[in-house]
Amino acid sequence: MSTGGVIRTVLGDVDAAGWGPTDYHEHLFQVTPLLPGDELDDERASTREAELLRDSGFAAMIDATPSGLGRDPAGVARIAEATGVRIVATAGRHREAHYEPGHPAHADDAATLKRRFIAEIAYGQPRDDADPDGPRALSPDGSPVRAGILKGGADYWRISAFERVTLLALAAAHRATGAAVMVHLEFCTAAHEVLDLLAAEGVASDRVVLAHADRDPDPGLHVALAQRGAYLGYDGFARPRTRSDAELLALTAAVVAAGAGDRVLLGGDVARRTRYIAYGGMPGLAYLGDRYLPRLRAEIGDAAVDTMLVANPARLLTLSR
Ligand SMILES: [Zn+2]
Repeated sequence: MSTGGVIRTVLGDVDAAGWGPTDYHEHLFQVTPLLPGDELDDERASTREAELLRDSGFAAMIDATPSGLGRDPAGVARIAEATGVRIVATAGRHREAHYEPGHPAHADDAATLKRRFIAEIAYGQPRDDADPDGPRALSPDGSPVRAGILKGGADYWRISAFERVTLLALAAAHRATGAAVMVHLEFCTAAHEVLDLLAAEGVASDRVVLAHADRDPDPGLHVALAQRGAYLGYDGFARPRTRSDAELLALTAAVVAAGAGDRVLLGGDVARRTRYIAYGGMPGLAYLGDRYLPRLRAEIGDAAVDTMLVANPARLLTLSR
């Protein structure tokens, strides 16, 4: 039965009622000065990695790379076509540290960004981020590749002027398009402050996902954020140098026990070529489905996990009217 709501993928709009298991945060293409030597820039390898994700149990993913960081919307659309994975692309820009001094992004004002973000959702993403108002990227059937989610970022306990301009433009684009807003946080700092800023600009907290919330695995903080309606992006698995998966299993169990399981989204955010199997690294995008999810299912049960994989992302990604 149709809910009437749609999710905007790179190959067109899909009825939210038929949505499937979703990895809410990966990158098929990404080039940033913050990750030298970890460029994701090979379409054939990224296609192979998307197949590995699909074969680990995922039907959909968000490609979370915003503007100016090596995006290739036409390539993402070809990967969606080749693999059958539904992919939602991102309009927006990252936290300021990803853009070197002198990068043209530093000159863009909120009105310019608002116009571009709306255009990416409504009409299509630029073929080349160096020419943001130029020709649109095309999918294999010749239609423009449209974004389905908005994204910004904040620094560690700091929202810079650059990042504030992004958030204001995202809010305006949200009001115009109904697309959800993802915000990259550093260790889940400034989460309430970002939600306050967005709410003051007309973005309800239940249209926002706080990416990397699990970098501060504090169930009390997370439940408070969820009670405001915000979604919590958990995507820090397979990083034992900073945090064991065991801590994230315990965090998730505590958040579910407190009644906030309907606010959690799961993703890998693997993001580095040295971590992609198809680029010669490990553990790859299949780690989440193959290694982590069986443990999470044992910990909190299938129903709670399936809510995080299907119902929660479908609700967030459905364009509000
Ligand atoms: Zn990411």
